[in-house]
Amino acid sequence: MPESENEKSRKLSGLNFIEAIIEEDLYNNKNQGRVHLRFPPEPNGYLHIGHAKSICLNFGLAKTYNGLCNLRFDDTNPEKEDVEYVDSIMEDIRWLGFEWYDKAYYASDYFEQLYQWAEKLITAGKAYVDEQPQEMISEQRGVPTRPGTESPFRNRPVEESLDLFRRMRAGEFTNGAMVLRAKIDMASPNMHMRDPIMYRILHHHHHRTGDNWCIYPMYDWAHGQSDFIEGITHSVCTLEFEIHRPLYDWFLDQLAEGSYRPRQIEFARLNLSYTVMSKRKLLELVNEGHVNGWDDPRMPTISGLRRRGYTPLSIRNFADRIGVAKRDNVIDVGLLEFSVREHLNQVAPRVFAVLDPLKVIITNYPEGKVEEMELQNNPEDPDAGSRKVAFSREIYIERDDFLEEPPKKFFRLGPGREVRLKGAYIVKCEGFEKDENGRITEIYCTYDPSTKSGGSGAGRKVKGTLHWVSVAHAIEAEVRLYDRLFLDEDPAGHEDKDFKSFINPDSLKILQHCKLEQSLETATAGGQFQLQRLGYFCVDKDSREKQLVFNRTVPLRDPWSKKNR
Ligand code: ATP
Ligand code: MG
Repeated sequence: MPESENEKSRKLSGLNFIEAIIEEDLYNNKNQGRVHLRFPPEPNGYLHIGHAKSICLNFGLAKTYNGLCNLRFDDTNPEKEDVEYVDSIMEDIRWLGFEWYDKAYYASDYFEQLYQWAEKLITAGKAYVDEQPQEMISEQRGVPTRPGTESPFRNRPVEESLDLFRRMRAGEFTNGAMVLRAKIDMASPNMHMRDPIMYRILHHHHHRTGDNWCIYPMYDWAHGQSDFIEGITHSVCTLEFEIHRPLYDWFLDQLAEGSYRPRQIEFARLNLSYTVMSKRKLLELVNEGHVNGWDDPRMPTISGLRRRGYTPLSIRNFADRIGVAKRDNVIDVGLLEFSVREHLNQVAPRVFAVLDPLKVIITNYPEGKVEEMELQNNPEDPDAGSRKVAFSREIYIERDDFLEEPPKKFFRLGPGREVRLKGAYIVKCEGFEKDENGRITEIYCTYDPSTKSGGSGAGRKVKGTLHWVSVAHAIEAEVRLYDRLFLDEDPAGHEDKDFKSFINPDSLKILQHCKLEQSLETATAGGQFQLQRLGYFCVDKDSREKQLVFNRTVPLRDPWSKKNR
């Protein structure tokens, strides 16, 4: 496993850069030694693995420093938000193993306070109502290298702005008729300081405040002030907000009276290869039916990963392994898969299943006889115990474990060749049957009775070991095999091509009539197993009585790794 930037820096100083900042603040007794973070999702979609990183970071820091972490819904954009998203976000955070402080907070709870503060800014001559159309305002912002143009409304009397702002709130104007802007500096090289918009008119029902408001605060105006109201000490966000930081601080400086200020700290967002992460794009995949919902196991959403069989611990380990960086980077999606493989290897019981069955008849095995073979559930876990698996004259093996004319290095079954059936006997292939299309229908073997565990020939060595399922005892299942959803390493990174043009047409393969060992009869949705030699699988929520559905979480080895290709 390559060492991450984070691991390297931790080894040097023992801390990542955010921890270093917090420790310094604690040393200086800043904020009376309080450490209070927050995770501030906008409820406009389901959370993805990038959010998981932010969740692990924020809630993790709170844990490390005996501090608190709030969950705050940044619900300032009612057109795109929905309670369905609020509920799924809470479910996902809890599933990851974190609990927020006190209660769920909402930026919308501060609408009145924000409004009052906005009036205060107007009164102080630091905000004004601009009646120009949006396009004109954008145009006047100009470019970073040249000063922008001041709005003709910039220096209008305070009373006029105050009156208009109150009437904006009262619903007297239509959407877009005017906005409230902060009066900062139209010549600032930082475009965000060129009189940014604080409020827009939006006659739209809000999922919490109903029709109480028809003006809504912009992100920059709502965010820092919400941090301030909640007593947040360290406001950790992604790098694209670095350039917003002067504005974040400017607003607070106009309002805060004491010395307490939340401090914004930026880190690099998680980017994963072969994945798109923006909620807008994920929503497109859902709405246009490229996937079967937000929790489709191919989605990088937390709910998709959960359904795919990822465990909370594997995601937390992944987040820890990639650490926090100050510069943008792309993480190989193989590292995420490594993390779940690593965890499931320790906890998932190993069982037998045959996905593409081929019947084997053991001609010298007595008809009607059944032996219960004792098999270990997980050699990695001594407490996992063992189970009995029925063995009989007719068994299934994997179709690709037999070749009519096997090459020398093929250590599986072929005419005249011997293999061990895992946990049972050594068998030798004596012949096979084909149908009129040349497809092999049955294989005939003989077994060596002395090669059972404890028998005189138990130590006899053969090159190959196969998994198997007794025909009479097999239960049937549907198995869904997933592959990467995109064929391009950076599907959203092409200017001339839509990210959806890189969708992998073979990202889902559904197999019917797969054969499972009998012990899986009682498996229920969410159950996780290693199907031996095939990979890690979990039982899908689509399972019905007598019709189990399994999802493959990951193959045993990474098929995309150069080594395994
Ligand atoms: P997206 O752009 O993917 O739709 P977003 O940034 O709009 O996501 P929010 O709901 O605003 O999503 O994000 C909530 C928190 O999660 C923010 O603090 C944001 O910085 C963080 N976050 C979002 N995406 C990532 C990511 N890829 N890596 C790390 N943190 C992220
Ligand atoms: Mg956002």
